[in-house]
Amino acid sequence: MLRSFCVGVLLTLFVEFDGGKSIKGVLSCGYFVKFPKVVRVYCPRCNAYTDHTVTIYSHGKRRNLAEGQRRYLRKLKGYGSSRKPKQKRFAKTTKKIVVKLQCRQCGYVLMRTVGRLKKLELAEAR
Ligand SMILES: [Zn+2]
Repeated sequence: MLRSFCVGVLLTLFVEFDGGKSIKGVLSCGYFVKFPKVVRVYCPRCNAYTDHTVTIYSHGKRRNLAEGQRRYLRKLKGYGSSRKPKQKRFAKTTKKIVVKLQCRQCGYVLMRTVGRLKKLELAEAR
């Protein structure tokens, strides 16, 4: 019921991070979410709560010389079907978004999953 309530609603969510409140717990619902550019979370290297710069993680470029990719290309050669069927319909309309948190004191990088969202926007904190 809660899920259906949130679908389609433009949800702008500003979350105050005080202490060990988990990001995942706070942002479990909603499709469009605004996320602060700086959050105060625990840094294991500093062993303290410090300011972290937030960026949205995106995967790197696929390498043609990686072993798995070479094997896959070898398999596609010649006669016969392809190794994996081509994706025609996608069931999901959202992606699991990961944010990269970098400690401003020591540069330590933390990754946090936010959850399934259509879009995550970085915005200035209130
Ligand atoms: Zn640190």
